[in-house]
Amino acid sequence: MSIKKKTLDVLYLDDLEQFLIKIGLSDDFKEGNIKCYCCNETIKIDNICALMIKKNKFIFLCNKESCYENYLKLNEEVKKDDI
Ligand SMILES: [Zn+2]
Repeated sequence: MSIKKKTLDVLYLDDLEQFLIKIGLSDDFKEGNIKCYCCNETIKIDNICALMIKKNKFIFLCNKESCYENYLKLNEEVKKDDI
């Protein structure tokens, strides 16, 4: 089981890099120009938690639990505003 999980993690990281290249953010990512949507911390390969697309913009979240929770809260507020 643990071997399988490790393989998945590696695949995920490879995919991420390919994805960043595809969307043209690979250089920004390597140069540390990608920031967490919530806490503004520089997103790196070892602290990235989520990547989302919202209104054609890419949103990155770091792996702090509070950031994910804040993002969900913000998202709820945005949804309310949209209505
Ligand atoms: Zn954060």
